[in-house]
Amino acid sequence: MKELIVRGPGRLVWEESPSPTLSSTASALVRPIASASCDLDRRLIAGVTPFKPPFALGHECVAEVLEVGEEVTTVRRGDLVSVPWKIACGYCAQCRAGRATACTSVPRHAAYGVPAGGHWGGLFSEVVHVPFADAMLVPLPPGLNPLAVASASDNLTDAWVAASRPHAAREAARVLVVGGTESLGVLAVQMAVAAGAASVDYLDDSDYRCDLAARSGANVSLDRVLDERYDVVVSATRDPQALYRGLLALAPGGHCSCIGILFDDPKIPLFGMYLRDVTLSVGVCNVRPHIPKVFELVSGGHCDPLLVSPTVVSCDEAPEALIQPLAKCIVVRERIT
Ligand SMILES: [Zn+2]
Ligand SMILES: [Zn+2]
Repeated sequence: MKELIVRGPGRLVWEESPSPTLSSTASALVRPIASASCDLDRRLIAGVTPFKPPFALGHECVAEVLEVGEEVTTVRRGDLVSVPWKIACGYCAQCRAGRATACTSVPRHAAYGVPAGGHWGGLFSEVVHVPFADAMLVPLPPGLNPLAVASASDNLTDAWVAASRPHAAREAARVLVVGGTESLGVLAVQMAVAAGAASVDYLDDSDYRCDLAARSGANVSLDRVLDERYDVVVSATRDPQALYRGLLALAPGGHCSCIGILFDDPKIPLFGMYLRDVTLSVGVCNVRPHIPKVFELVSGGHCDPLLVSPTVVSCDEAPEALIQPLAKCIVVRERIT
């Protein structure tokens, strides 16, 4: 089978490798049919992250199930499923407490497409091994377009959680999304609108993304001074200064979800935050429990992820398309089941 391998900075190649086999009666083999680039992928390919090549790329996809172990009860051959980015067992104490991102049955940070906790393959590959099929895979409801939810494995669901969670304690919230990565900011705009925000402002220096954000329901004509104005801020930027500006924009009692990954330690206006009694949440998203809700939002037309996925390519075209994606890039493969 073929795997899409990051070989070195800017070097992305399809390579032949042995097809995985079922590792246990709880495992499954799946074949990705719509794989999306995560906003992290471009940096993984460019070699500007702590994760060193070679490794198989990809941690967002919808796949068809090829084979399941005899203990697997929730999916069977031919089903279309979302494959969450995180490898997790579903039964350890951390998983049962809702912290599958800290699953203790596998090495810390075990995930697809990022060599952070060992090598688990990538979701652009032709065949992917899923060690805990019932705990990980989420079947698509009938009629849902696989391309529209290719990113439910990570970015799309991350955007939903970041934009909706702070709303639980804040009705009619004024929301600011600080954009900067390829898709997360615009997706967060759509999800804030879906979560019932009173208003959504969008800050970004890219005209292209500002246009997408405006089409998603955001106001993009902002004043220069935004201080103490917003109940919810979603920071989807890698720019430390933009994060800083977002934190100062929080109103008293506000909540900032930081979902843009910054590898350095940014400057945080801690005393100003203390005086306003605000919350900053940051952390990898445990997407799996939220994927059914995201399916519901997409099915109901409450968000339009395809707006940030302008490029749909074949496997042959993938290496070139993924190096400089405009926003998201989706790689498709025909079904065989
Ligand atoms: Zn990701
Ligand atoms: Zn676990």
